[in-house]
Amino acid sequence: MANRILIVGLDGVTFRIIKPLVSKGKLPTFSNLMKNGIHGILSSTVPPITAPAWTSFTTGKNPGKHGLFHFTTFKKNSYDHSLVNATLIKSKTMFRLASEAGKRVISINVPITYPPEQLNGIVVSGMLSPINATFTHPASLSQELRDDGYIIDMLNQPLIEPEQRFDLAKKMAAKRLEVSSRILSENNWDLAMLVFVGADRLQHNIWDRMDLLREFYIYQDSLLAKLLEIVDDSTYIMFMSDHGFTPTKAAFFVNQWLANEGYLKKHYWRVAPPLMIGDLIGTEQRTLKFRVKNVIKNIVAHLTRGKLLDYPQISINYKKSKAFANPSEIIFINLKGREASGKIEPGEEYEKIKREIAEKLKKLTDPQTGEKILEDAIIKDDMYSGEYFDKAPDIGLVPKEDGYALVGMRPHHSYIRRDFRMKSFHSMNGIFLLSGQDIIKDKECETLQMVDCMPTVLHILGVPIPEDVDGRVLKNLFIEGSQLRIKEPERQGPSQISGREFEKALDEDERLMEEQLKGLGYLT
Ligand SMILES: [Zn+2]
Repeated sequence: MANRILIVGLDGVTFRIIKPLVSKGKLPTFSNLMKNGIHGILSSTVPPITAPAWTSFTTGKNPGKHGLFHFTTFKKNSYDHSLVNATLIKSKTMFRLASEAGKRVISINVPITYPPEQLNGIVVSGMLSPINATFTHPASLSQELRDDGYIIDMLNQPLIEPEQRFDLAKKMAAKRLEVSSRILSENNWDLAMLVFVGADRLQHNIWDRMDLLREFYIYQDSLLAKLLEIVDDSTYIMFMSDHGFTPTKAAFFVNQWLANEGYLKKHYWRVAPPLMIGDLIGTEQRTLKFRVKNVIKNIVAHLTRGKLLDYPQISINYKKSKAFANPSEIIFINLKGREASGKIEPGEEYEKIKREIAEKLKKLTDPQTGEKILEDAIIKDDMYSGEYFDKAPDIGLVPKEDGYALVGMRPHHSYIRRDFRMKSFHSMNGIFLLSGQDIIKDKECETLQMVDCMPTVLHILGVPIPEDVDGRVLKNLFIEGSQLRIKEPERQGPSQISGREFEKALDEDERLMEEQLKGLGYLT
C-alpha cells in the first residue's frame, strides 16, 4: 500500500521554547512525536526568511533556482519593490509533482501559494494571499471560508496589547485547526500540508512576553493533538519550521554600516511635524501610549529648536551608492546593467567590492563589546546557483543565535542600536520532527537542510524526484533494512517551469499585505 504523509508547518517555531517545555511535560504531542520518530534542527535558507525558506522546502531547490530571495522583488528599472507571489516560483512544488503523479493533495495556508494552483485536491493559499481574492482551489471554498470566519493571517495591528495579540493568534490557530480538520477528514489525500503562523507573529512582536509565548506553544500542542486524532497510525507525520527565532541584544543597521564604510550615500530631506502623525499609526510595534509620548517628545524637541517645519528624514541615495541592503538582510552591489542606477562595472570591480564587503562583515564586531555581529556573510557564488543567479542578492547575512536583529530600512545615526524595538529575530535553526513506520525512533539527528525535505517527502510517497532538485533523500532517517531505506529513489525530468499566469491583486489587498510586512519589520 502506498504511504501517505501529513506535514504540519509551524512558522518560526524553535526548539529554544519547545525543549524546556517538553522536559517539563507540557507539550505531550511534540514529546510523543520525538519518542516515536526522529527530530533535529532544520537549517533555513539564507536569508532565513519565510518566502524563500518555504519555497525551498516545497521545491527542494535553492533560491537561485526557484527565484524567490525575499518577500519582495525589484520592480523593473527601479529600487521599489513589489510583493512576491506563487507565479514567480520557477519550479514545480511537491504538491504539483504529487498531483501530476496521480496523488491527492491538500495544501492549507502554505506561505506564497497564492494564486492557488489547480491541483488534484484542495488548496487554501497562505501568507501574502489577498483577503478579497479567490485564495482557494476549488474557488467556491473561498467564500465558504470567509463566511465561516477563517483568518488567513494576522494583519498589521500595531496598537494592540500583547494579551490581545495573543488572543488573536489563538483564535486564528483554532479556526485553522477546525477548517483543516474538516477538510482532511472529508477528503481523501496522500500528501497533506497545513501551516500555522501564530507563533511567528507573536515572536516578532512580544518576545519579551515569554509567559504568553510558552502558553501559545502549549495551546498549539493541544491543537496538534486534536489534528493527529484524525489520522491513522500508518500516516507519516512531519512537523517542521521554516526558520527559528532568537532573542537579540541589539539591532544592526546594515545600510548605516555601509554608509560608514563609504559604500552608501545618504539622502536627506525634511518634512513638517504634522507628517509625524505617521509615527502614530505607523509600524512601530509599541502601544498607543508609547507612540503618543514619542510623537509629543519629538514635537517639543523641534519646537525648542525653533524648527517646527523641520523633521529630518534619511534615505538611500541610489545614484551615488555602491551597495545597499534592500530589504533588510540582503545586500546588493549597485551593478551597472542590473540595477536602475547601477554604477559598479560588472567583472573585476564588481567581484572586488562584493568580496571586500563580505570579508569586512564576516569580521565585524560590536564596538562596545567586541562581539562578532554576524554568524557569517556569504557571497552569492557560495550559496546560490541556477537560472536566477543573476537576480540574486550579492551578499547574504547570516544572523547569530542570541545575536543582532538585522535591519535594512533607512540609515540611522549609528549602525548598532541597543534601544531598538526589535527584541527578537529569525534564526537559522528551524525544527524538524518525523515519524512513521520506516522512521528511526526516539533519536536526535544532525542538522538537516531545507532542500532535502522535498525529495524525502516524494520518496516516502513513491513519487519520482526531479533530476534538478538540490536536495537529496534523507536515507539515514529510515530504519536499517526498511523498505524506504533499501529502495532507490525514483527519478524524473527537471521540475523547472517558467511561472504561471495570474490576476493582479486588488490595490487594497496589496496595501494590507505590505502593511503586514511592515508590522513584522521587513519593509519601511
Ligand atoms: Zn517564517
